[in-house]
Amino acid sequence: MKAEPAEQQRLLDLQEVDSLLRQLTHRLRTLPEAAEIQRLEGRVRELRDQKAVAATKLTDLDREQRKAESDVEQVRARAERDTQRLNAGQVSSPKELERLQSEIDSLQRRQTELEEVVLEVMERREATDAEHARLQKEIEAVEAELETLEERRSSAVVDLEADRASANDRRQRVAAEIPEDLLALYTKLRDQHDGVGAAMLRYGRCEGCKLALSTAELGEIRQAPADEVLRCEDCRRILIRTTESGL
Ligand SMILES: [Zn+2]
Repeated sequence: MKAEPAEQQRLLDLQEVDSLLRQLTHRLRTLPEAAEIQRLEGRVRELRDQKAVAATKLTDLDREQRKAESDVEQVRARAERDTQRLNAGQVSSPKELERLQSEIDSLQRRQTELEEVVLEVMERREATDAEHARLQKEIEAVEAELETLEERRSSAVVDLEADRASANDRRQRVAAEIPEDLLALYTKLRDQHDGVGAAMLRYGRCEGCKLALSTAELGEIRQAPADEVLRCEDCRRILIRTTESGL
């Protein structure tokens, strides 16, 4: 293939823009904010699940507390009725009196026990309530962190997209100066060889594969016409001669 030396050298500019575009695309795909956002979103889901568990527990404890309080109230009301009967002097039989007094004593003991249950449920409810509030606070903190990260990610995306747009503009201008057959060869090689289709011959070394050319290869290159499109013997990329080639 033949191409003017200036057109060949333009390939190096195109390669530079293509490498930049590749980097920008890679950075867009691997923004550190994106990974962190994913991690925090997982954390928020986890916290919401824990909060839902705490909320269910609170509802259960509320029910348990109402039940325990109503048990206390029943026992208390019955003891009060018995006490009123006792005080009203309606009971005359000593046996009945004794039975009533014993029932009042037992109801009072029962009331004390049930009041303990109420207290114990209230304590558990208080602890669960605190846990529920702590989870809500943590969710809010993580959500605030997420919001900041999302803003940072958006602005990073905007910047990278702007860089990409300007690189694409430059690419179009550069590509327009390169003959079609050379451009097609470059594109094919670039896609085959890790994004690099054209490399500078720099002080006897191919900048594509970083290997030094043999004396014989360099000798052939010295003999080759300036408009001959050269290829690296090792990596097959287009090899571009410049003033830095060391020929
Ligand atoms: Zn090479």
